[in-house]
Amino acid sequence: MTTKPKVALYWCSSCGGCEETVVDLDEAVLDVVAAIDIVFWPCAMDFKYADVEKLRDNELAVSFINGAIRTSEQEHVAKLLRRKSAAVIAFGSCACMGGIPALANLTGKNEIFRTSYLHSPTVVNKEGTVPVETSVNAGFTLTLPRFFETVRTVSQVIDVDYFLPGCPPTPTLLAAAVNALLQGKLPPKGSVLLPEKVLCSSCDRNATKPDTMCVDEIKRINRVAADPAKCLLAQGILCMGPVTRDGCGFPCVKGNMACTGCFGPVDNADQGARMISALGGIIDAEDDGFKKAVADVIDPAGSFYRYSLSTSLLGAKREDGAL
Ligand code: SF4
Repeated sequence: MTTKPKVALYWCSSCGGCEETVVDLDEAVLDVVAAIDIVFWPCAMDFKYADVEKLRDNELAVSFINGAIRTSEQEHVAKLLRRKSAAVIAFGSCACMGGIPALANLTGKNEIFRTSYLHSPTVVNKEGTVPVETSVNAGFTLTLPRFFETVRTVSQVIDVDYFLPGCPPTPTLLAAAVNALLQGKLPPKGSVLLPEKVLCSSCDRNATKPDTMCVDEIKRINRVAADPAKCLLAQGILCMGPVTRDGCGFPCVKGNMACTGCFGPVDNADQGARMISALGGIIDAEDDGFKKAVADVIDPAGSFYRYSLSTSLLGAKREDGAL
């Protein structure tokens, strides 16, 4: 009897969309389940951390870890899975680059707690209670995981073998990664399991780009009626396609929405800096004209670094312990 490769899936700091990708495999999920033995997937089944602790080191063929690392519990489980896994795949943009949770790195833990638990318009908290790591209630000591000052990527905490970004990665890409794994056809360690080219190179609107692109201003897409046949960036709409990795099949552009950059940069570039530089090359402005031309981008950090803040030059406002 051949034993099936054991696989774990874990969810750190993320929205759960990456777990949806597994469900979105549809009928293909039956092939996947037939080929592998899922031994840990807390989002879907009642496994315990003790189940993982009992495994031998490297007994898991692969762990798919989605989400960024925000708490000590996530850090603990990531390290545990690293020890028990022959390969770890950082799955999804949050795991690979920090993703949306990493936008919180523009502020700090105290500000986040103040906003979330004290000052939010929908919060009623007369006692001013905020989470603490240890508290005593009715004689019992309760503990919560530590909430770190900053959001880190999975590879900033443990050694990662492969990266599959996307918000979320598509089911096709997940199936390809699992098949490559089963067939032993994975690329060299450290690879991103996606093409080494930018989205524009496969986008079907690329041919409509003028030879020399020149725009007066950058507009948010909700402020214009975008021509569904023409390059969005050439229309002055902020489309991150020129600085974003290919592989998604451009579903956003097909829906007449601009790419927001969720597959991250190619070549480990600083995605936001590269986009600002690209805009500098196409905006027809002098001196402070550039600032005026991008004034409609009301959240520059959230627009240029929406998924990649943890790996960017900006990184974090504070490191842990630097209050
Ligand atoms: Fe397509 Fe956007 Fe690139 Fe234009 S900028 S070719 S719309 S991905």
